[in-house]
Amino acid sequence: GDHVRKAVIAGNWKMHMTCAEARAFAASFRPLIADLPDDREVVLAPPFTAIPTLCRHLAGAGVAIAGQNVHWEESGAYTGMISAPMLLEHGVTHAIVGHSEPRKYFSETDEQINLRARTAQKSGLIPILCVGESDDQREARETERVIHRQVEQGLEGIDPLRLIVAYEPIWAIGTGKTCAAEEANRICGLIRGWVGHPEVVVQYGGSVNPATIDMLMAQSDIDGVLVGGASLDPVSFARIANYQ
Ligand code: PGA
Repeated sequence: GDHVRKAVIAGNWKMHMTCAEARAFAASFRPLIADLPDDREVVLAPPFTAIPTLCRHLAGAGVAIAGQNVHWEESGAYTGMISAPMLLEHGVTHAIVGHSEPRKYFSETDEQINLRARTAQKSGLIPILCVGESDDQREARETERVIHRQVEQGLEGIDPLRLIVAYEPIWAIGTGKTCAAEEANRICGLIRGWVGHPEVVVQYGGSVNPATIDMLMAQSDIDGVLVGGASLDPVSFARIANYQ
């Protein structure tokens, strides 16, 4: 990444980790990130139920906590949803929006994702907007068009200075197939251009692991990573946070 932007290393636990497991993770993880250089920030997105436990057990460790999603209304008849004030009350500072899993399983649209991002930002949360093409879209050479649309629609009315965009090619998520660092860098650079602000933090996500992190972070337009599977293991995620 570029030196003007602080790197953001984020872990997305998805539907993993009970409170007991989160507590054990925190105990192992804390000493491993005690000497992180101050050019980087660590964020963890646990399931909603583990947020209070994780906040308590990582207090003072310099780890920011994110919601894995956030609703676009502050309250109301939305069974199963979580609002920005509910997250903020627990000290949450970030919220993932537009991850490919809710896009796929819950048919989230770019319009809904934009509403989530706007509400998050208005409430004081930093949205982590995920974008990325599917395998078919990549094969059809539609990658740039798809991501351009997701960025444009997802970020309408959003302040680019309090925002993270994560480029997560769907074919690389949970597959062990990391996107080649140069290609990931090229797409992250395009995203920065489409956002139109040189200071926006752009992450790469998709099978990031301790073996690929240094190469990814050496790229000029990759300012951080969004890590799924490898963030569940404290040693692996600490190694990623301690990238060279
Ligand atoms: P992965 O997940 O690191 O397990 O591929 C990344 C993500 O979905 O954010």
